[in-house]
Amino acid sequence: MSVVLVEDPDLVPLCPHCGRELSEIVATIPAASGSSKFKFGKRTVYACPMCRKALGVSERKGFWAG
Ligand SMILES: [Zn+2]
Repeated sequence: MSVVLVEDPDLVPLCPHCGRELSEIVATIPAASGSSKFKFGKRTVYACPMCRKALGVSERKGFWAG
């Protein structure tokens, strides 16, 4: 099985939560707290700027840049 990645610069993703166009995405890095298993790496949470619901979590830098 192979997957072809197609770049589409005109693609405007829709927020899966509120359905609005994601012309921008906000990101935050929550402070680590409590359990030791959360101490490793920086987690970045991406969210819709309009409804603020999380779109995804990345544990490394440059997630969107590949
Ligand atoms: Zn939204």
